[in-house]
Amino acid sequence: MSVYPLPIAAPLIEWYQHAARKLPWRETRDAYHIWVSEVMLQQTRVEAVLPYYARFIAALPTIATLAEANEDRLLKLWEGLGYYSRARNMRRAARVVRQSHGGVLPQDVKALLRLPGIGPYTAGAIASIAYNIPAPAVDGNVLRVLARLCNSTLDITLPATRQLARAAIAAMLPAGAPGTFNQAMMELGACVCLPNTPPLCGVCPLCAFCAGHRGSAAASLPVKSKKAPRRQEDLTVFAIRRCGRVAVRKRDSSGLLAGMYELPNAPGHLNEAAMLAQLAAWGVTIAGAFTRHTAKHIFTHVEWHMRVYTLHAGGAHMTDRARPADNVLPAGWAWADEASGHALPSAFKKCL
Ligand code: SF4
Repeated sequence: MSVYPLPIAAPLIEWYQHAARKLPWRETRDAYHIWVSEVMLQQTRVEAVLPYYARFIAALPTIATLAEANEDRLLKLWEGLGYYSRARNMRRAARVVRQSHGGVLPQDVKALLRLPGIGPYTAGAIASIAYNIPAPAVDGNVLRVLARLCNSTLDITLPATRQLARAAIAAMLPAGAPGTFNQAMMELGACVCLPNTPPLCGVCPLCAFCAGHRGSAAASLPVKSKKAPRRQEDLTVFAIRRCGRVAVRKRDSSGLLAGMYELPNAPGHLNEAAMLAQLAAWGVTIAGAFTRHTAKHIFTHVEWHMRVYTLHAGGAHMTDRARPADNVLPAGWAWADEASGHALPSAFKKCL
């Protein structure tokens, strides 16, 4: 079974015009704002994106402000969204746009694709929504809707299937409203043709065109090949507290959570004696009792099983109770709290 174009534009757009959720990035044609929203939406649910989007646009309202943003500030704005390399890539792309495109995102799909971090989906979304260019924007929602509409059993994780889907969507785009069509397809996938649950075919504007619905196979589509199992990693995390703050340090500049702040940690699940030995090796002294609990965090390819020790820093230099002295921590570590501007990934926040 293949994926083929269908005459769905008119009923889809009519449905979208009355059913679409009111969202701030749908109230604008500003290409930069649409870009920010699309990158954030690739990471999490619409409801979760709303406060991030508002905060990001308020802090960095233009491409110029993003290009100039300090990395710690940028990562603080992204804190909790995950995939921090996307935020860094946006800043790199903003610098290219400032340098080579007069500070405005190019009105050309090929030029958009040359910017760091912008792939076919994001380029298609920016081009069609902001600039009315007839470019397909095929995300997971669209792949699912299309597979069901066409009763396709092609594996949607394969690049060849995505390419075919982009060609099919390109052939369906209505002249004059490509951005509305793309957004309507995504909205249908998010609100009607649902993932991991039976689709709501009874209220779907495309029911009459849907081969998956006719063949009663829609709920079992799309076909996705199984991902490799996630790597399991044990680690011991130290939540070292003092005066309402917690000790943090910077991660390596490459690998998982590159360059982010972290709670100090060590590989494996350390028992209490090994934990105390590790603190001694760092030169950190503690005062009073400590507690232990566990936490888990799931990344795309790895799962962390964390044994967390919560401790209170001691030390002869702790004379100022309002602000802990840095000299009770190893070089390069710092005391962090909500106001200090250190971006702490969710994996570590859940340890606190
Ligand atoms: S009819 Fe059902 S399966 Fe087909 S597109 Fe609509 S919701 Fe999805």
